[in-house]
Amino acid sequence: MDRIIFATTNQGKMKEIKSILADLDVEILSLKDAGIDVDIVEDGNTFEENAIIKAKTIMELTKEVVLADDSGLEVDYLNKEPGIYSARYLGEDTPYSEKNRIILERLQGVEKSKRTARFVCAIAAAFPSGEIVTTRATIEGIIADEPRGDNGFGYDPIVLVEELGKTTAELSMEEKNKISHRGKALEEMKKNLKKFKKNVDKQI
Ligand code: IMP
Repeated sequence: MDRIIFATTNQGKMKEIKSILADLDVEILSLKDAGIDVDIVEDGNTFEENAIIKAKTIMELTKEVVLADDSGLEVDYLNKEPGIYSARYLGEDTPYSEKNRIILERLQGVEKSKRTARFVCAIAAAFPSGEIVTTRATIEGIIADEPRGDNGFGYDPIVLVEELGKTTAELSMEEKNKISHRGKALEEMKKNLKKFKKNVDKQI
């Protein structure tokens, strides 16, 4: 196995993924790198289902090992909204400053113990044999009283990691990668990929 396609067009994610998987000694290609341009309908009901839909679709097109992820924010007080709809919450084009403002408004006056939330990331690997493997990780926090921090993206300014006393938008990229839902799910996936690579390389 000398290459893996990661089903994303997001360059920021690619940078993070390449750095975490560097010691696998495998080339990691984005969809763009692999010359693939497809629209995939993410109509699963869970993060795992959506990640599998993306990985499987591209694996069937290319017959290569394909990874895909799906992530989002779950706010317990809002019945785990926005969840798998995190990117589409209040409309795809609504700026995150507005999405965050509305979440804070919906939680106004709610006591700290009920403000629990987490970022979730599921990663799926689709192998040409048809085998599918998934991993999931979270980063737990509480919804802050007001947005804080300029780093990161999306919902980062309103998710406070209590142990650190900082929102995820107040962490450097290195700090966040170490504890992030995506970082941890990818580290776990790396173990599966190492096993798969060993088996394939043995057969050559
Ligand atoms: P996707 O997995 O790229 O589709 O991301 C789904 C959405 O979840 C993003 O657009 C963000 O709104 C949110 N999200 C996922 N991970 C993070 C994070 O680390 N920080 C902030 N928002 C995130």
